[in-house]
Amino acid sequence: MKDAHGRTIDYLRISLTDRCNFRCIYCMPEDGVSQLSHEDILRMEEIERLVGIVAKLGVKKIRLTGGEPLVRKGVVDLVEKIGNTEGIDNVSITTNGVLLPAMVKQLKAAGLSRVNISLDTLDEEQFKMITRCGRIETTLAGIDAALEAGLDPVKINVVVVKSLNQDFLGFAKMTIDKPLHVRFIEYMPVGKTDGCDGTGWGKKDVIPSEELLEIINRRAEEEGLPLLEPAGDSRPEGWGPARYFQFPGAKGTVGFISPLSRHFCSECNRLRLTAEGKIRPCLFSDEEYDVRAALREGTDEDVRAVVLQALGAKPDEHHDKVGTERRMSQIGG
Ligand code: SAM
Ligand code: SF4
Repeated sequence: MKDAHGRTIDYLRISLTDRCNFRCIYCMPEDGVSQLSHEDILRMEEIERLVGIVAKLGVKKIRLTGGEPLVRKGVVDLVEKIGNTEGIDNVSITTNGVLLPAMVKQLKAAGLSRVNISLDTLDEEQFKMITRCGRIETTLAGIDAALEAGLDPVKINVVVVKSLNQDFLGFAKMTIDKPLHVRFIEYMPVGKTDGCDGTGWGKKDVIPSEELLEIINRRAEEEGLPLLEPAGDSRPEGWGPARYFQFPGAKGTVGFISPLSRHFCSECNRLRLTAEGKIRPCLFSDEEYDVRAALREGTDEDVRAVVLQALGAKPDEHHDKVGTERRMSQIGG
């Protein structure tokens, strides 16, 4: 499937729910977003049908996200069904990790091979502050459970925010003894970024990846550690636009994802599906295409037409847009 700018689109990120067991300050308001009703949200069979249709159009990779995808009932079955869909090579999940100790074995048995776990800080108090209600040990237990279950790769997503003063070297050091792939992601100003979303963060809070790499190497030097070097063949398998580095001899890698400082729009390979069935051609644009009605009342051809319409609307790049109508938990990060 090629878009109007010649990019091959073979990746669909599916939001299974806008609900979550955390309330991260940059993603959700304290009392949660207005939650979608049962009727509004796509049923699992509708998602399966859509996956079958997009697979025929050339989508090969599916990521389940949200909200927190693991709170959605039936997620294990869905992983299995998506994995068995002809044309789909890979199904993965992005999660806050809390439910992994209870679910990872079933997920692995259902065909899940890779997982991204979000962890923005190594400090217990700061974790509580960011997630509003989470405990760091639950996410750390999720990471261990994923490794023990043999998922590969296990990636850790760290959203970098200047004012949080995160322990970047501490994160990088996690990759020395464990096959973890820590990825630092520049904070993306989506949602209302005028300060009323509870964070007040905006573009001023972005630490460009180049600068972050220097910060980590400077701190490593201070501790007598070797410097990070390009990871070459040790890069984790995946389809993200990260640049990977590694401490010599480390089991894992350190990646940098730079949607702002080094935007990768020209390599964008994805569409997004929101929990209520809107296809979103670009994270940074509020343009959406409703595929739910076609899934409920239409033929496969009707569904395909909506997908192709969304594909045709993919912008060439995000043009440094700041702020979106919907927050990340409503879009599917
Ligand atoms: N609940 C799951 C989790 O936290 O991994 C999946 C959904 S969450 C919206 C997906 C990812 O989006 C998380 O890694 C989160 O940190 C990231 N995210 C949310 N808001 C973001 C923002 N404004 N900029 C960059 N990443 C963001
Ligand atoms: Fe929930 Fe993930 Fe958003 Fe945090 S980032 S509130 S864990 S959906």
